[in-house]
Amino acid sequence: MTIDLSAFAAERGVKYFMISYTDLFGAQRAKLVPAQAIAEMQVEGAGFAGFATWLDLTPAHPDLFAVPDPASVIQLPWKPEVAWVAADCVMEGEPVEQAPRVVLKRQVERAAAAGYRVKTGVEAEFFLISADGSEISDRHDTAEKPCYDQQALLRRYDVIAEICDHMLALGWKPYQNDHEDANGQFEMNWAFDDALVTADRHSFFKFMVKSVSEKHGLRATFMPKPFKGLTGNGCHCHVSVWDLAGTTNVFADRDAPFGLAAAGRAFLGGIMAHAPALAAITNPTVNSYKRINAPRTISGATWSPNTVTWTGNNRTHMVRVPGPGRFELRLPDGAANPYLLQAAIVAAGLDGLATGADPGPHSDLDMYAEGHKAIGAPKLPLNLLDALRAYEADVGLRESLGAAFSAAYLKLRHGEWTSYCGHFTAWEHETTLDV
Ligand code: ADP
Ligand code: MG
Ligand code: MG
Ligand code: MG
Ligand code: MG
Repeated sequence: MTIDLSAFAAERGVKYFMISYTDLFGAQRAKLVPAQAIAEMQVEGAGFAGFATWLDLTPAHPDLFAVPDPASVIQLPWKPEVAWVAADCVMEGEPVEQAPRVVLKRQVERAAAAGYRVKTGVEAEFFLISADGSEISDRHDTAEKPCYDQQALLRRYDVIAEICDHMLALGWKPYQNDHEDANGQFEMNWAFDDALVTADRHSFFKFMVKSVSEKHGLRATFMPKPFKGLTGNGCHCHVSVWDLAGTTNVFADRDAPFGLAAAGRAFLGGIMAHAPALAAITNPTVNSYKRINAPRTISGATWSPNTVTWTGNNRTHMVRVPGPGRFELRLPDGAANPYLLQAAIVAAGLDGLATGADPGPHSDLDMYAEGHKAIGAPKLPLNLLDALRAYEADVGLRESLGAAFSAAYLKLRHGEWTSYCGHFTAWEHETTLDV
């Protein structure tokens, strides 16, 4: 049954709705709509000038309408008079095919048509930094190996517990919070769910972490590599595939190697085959390539991959199979668009299922110490341009994710790369002045 947002407001004392959509660069755009006006907006959507956001539209395009999906509504736990609701972009009555939530819904439909339901969980790491963004917020958080630092974790108890309490109240089933491998870095984990639910929660999580941090006079960043020499912000994604009822994990086979059934291997085969192109989505910024392919960090390991390899329970590879019936893609970073991240994984995996793709042999190497022994393993893209070119060259993935989306995405990201190339750096000056 569809939730009536007007009734939802009356029952819960909600005064305003944030009708929110996510653009191609992952920015959340919203209108704040009084509850008195929500009944009409629930049907018609809230109007936006699409060109003003990253969707590859022109100023001459007709109005964009963000039509709320009431199933996604969340009353803000830190400001209960406001409710957030994810929206789908519509123009002249048709879905906007390049809008990220529409892109993901198409992939969910494709999976359902093939008889599958993809369930995922994300680990969205973040740093708590000073409000001006220049340094980590805790002067005493200086350990060389800061992972799981008990003292530093408790110094940020007020922020972390407040966010975790909110997740508990929302019924997300959070189960652990920790200090991560970089000074100032944290991770909070909640239970996996359908890919679209995870994407909405991932979006809301970022909004919530930033909002609660601001309330405490801090700033939260999901930037892939905010500080040179420190471990970056990953956004690992765990994946399993179920029957349509959601009761049988079709990836699980306890008798198969790594507990991964033929369907799991084929899905993984799709991920391996499309990995260089996937990076354009999972690692979407210039800064992303300072996290993957990175030199050793102060803590001793980057915990991020540099080659297209998979393994059992070993955290130095691109894909880890931590237990039966699922795998973990360690490639994505904190800049990944929550919707496009899920869409790209589903598209690559469905291709693997359709073609019966073989992931190839697994590797037991310690990739940080023995990576040179991984003969023939493809390197991940070295920079954003490399990744965009890999995406361009991957006709299958491009078509699966949609021609309109792929064209718009490539155009905007190439624009970002060009903008970056026009930027002069201190490094150039230092290394080139005396040529
Ligand atoms: P790690 O740090 O060991 O990689 P975490 O516990 O931080 O793992 O995160 C694991 C994520 O994987 C969580 O979001 C969890 O809900 C999710 N997960 C666990 N089992 C499955 C599964 N079968 N399918 C998809 N996601 C899963
Ligand atoms: Mg105006
Ligand atoms: Mg984790
Ligand atoms: Mg982590
Ligand atoms: Mg992980």
